[in-house]
Amino acid sequence: MLFADIIGHEDLKKRLIQSVKESRVSHAQLFIGPEGSGKMPLALAYAQYINCTNRSESDSCGVCPSCRKFMSLTHPDLHFVFPTATNKEVKQNPESDLFITDWREYLIDCQGYVDLSDWFNKLDIENKQGIINVRDAATIMRKLSFKAYESEYKIAIIWMAEKLNVQSANKLLKLIEEPPEKTLFILIAENQEELLSTIRSRCVMVKVPKLGLQETQSALVQRFGCSEQEAYDAAALSNGNWIMAQHYAQDHEDEQLYANIFQKWMRYCFKGAVSEFIDMVANDIKPLGREKQKEFLEYGLNIFHNSLLFNNNMPDDVMLPADEKNFTKNFAPFINIRNVSQICELFEESINQIERNANASIVFLDNSFKMSKLLRIK
Ligand SMILES: [Zn+2]
Repeated sequence: MLFADIIGHEDLKKRLIQSVKESRVSHAQLFIGPEGSGKMPLALAYAQYINCTNRSESDSCGVCPSCRKFMSLTHPDLHFVFPTATNKEVKQNPESDLFITDWREYLIDCQGYVDLSDWFNKLDIENKQGIINVRDAATIMRKLSFKAYESEYKIAIIWMAEKLNVQSANKLLKLIEEPPEKTLFILIAENQEELLSTIRSRCVMVKVPKLGLQETQSALVQRFGCSEQEAYDAAALSNGNWIMAQHYAQDHEDEQLYANIFQKWMRYCFKGAVSEFIDMVANDIKPLGREKQKEFLEYGLNIFHNSLLFNNNMPDDVMLPADEKNFTKNFAPFINIRNVSQICELFEESINQIERNANASIVFLDNSFKMSKLLRIK
């Protein structure tokens, strides 16, 4: 991965490059930031730059033998650890190495913009929760105890460090505290609260902010040939998440569908129109299927966040297509500090339930009844 292939983050790229030029690469770094912001692409470009034999001032060369192996993710000094679980092929003792072929294929397909639920879908682990196992920590320990095969630095990228269980974290901590020579650990995480504090305190924090509206918009125009307006709408909805921005740009129709269903649904919930929302759940929401139901709920969360912006007199910060902006402006008075956290928790919980294969009709009906009550809290 070249730095040039990564959307946005110009300042951060410069900082990372500078650290290599000045030979002050910290041996354990935690790339932390929201989903879809580009943490993994940055980690991959950084790793490639560090080991490129012909790097320039601003990027790796992309053609030297080291770069080529980094780009195909097959460099012998590049190691990955990520969450796994058993599936139809690996029936017991899952660990990253057993899934490395799938992992490389997935990373290349999504150009580094990885997403936990997409990855679990790819692995087909059904509704199991993937974790980073203690076996992973043992394996990486063993691998890093050898000298680098070909390059100066051995690099271990640990994706979703919040999925380390206590046992594997402890094992890894020892390694981070007494690192083998010329070894770089890049830990990637999305949720600081879920991360063990012992891990957090031993790494240099590299904050990766969400993408800006404009950089997302121009990337959509360049990469997908969207019109400026389509790209703007998708970028606005994505809230700085490139994975969502791509979904929205490719599924412009879906987004309008979500807007229509959501607006109707919220009206019924507010009126407490039970038979109408039962009908909606059966005819409009259930047929969406799980992935779209999840996106639909995420769409709802985005509307709640934007409602708060209206309520705090920040209408210019509301990034929605015009008709949805109009709906949100009228809807905003029903979202307030007394109900907003419960509403967001309710939607997040519904997303979790859908991810865990709960019965969608029950999830959405339950959500409708609760919303009916919450929307009336003044
Ligand atoms: Zn190179």
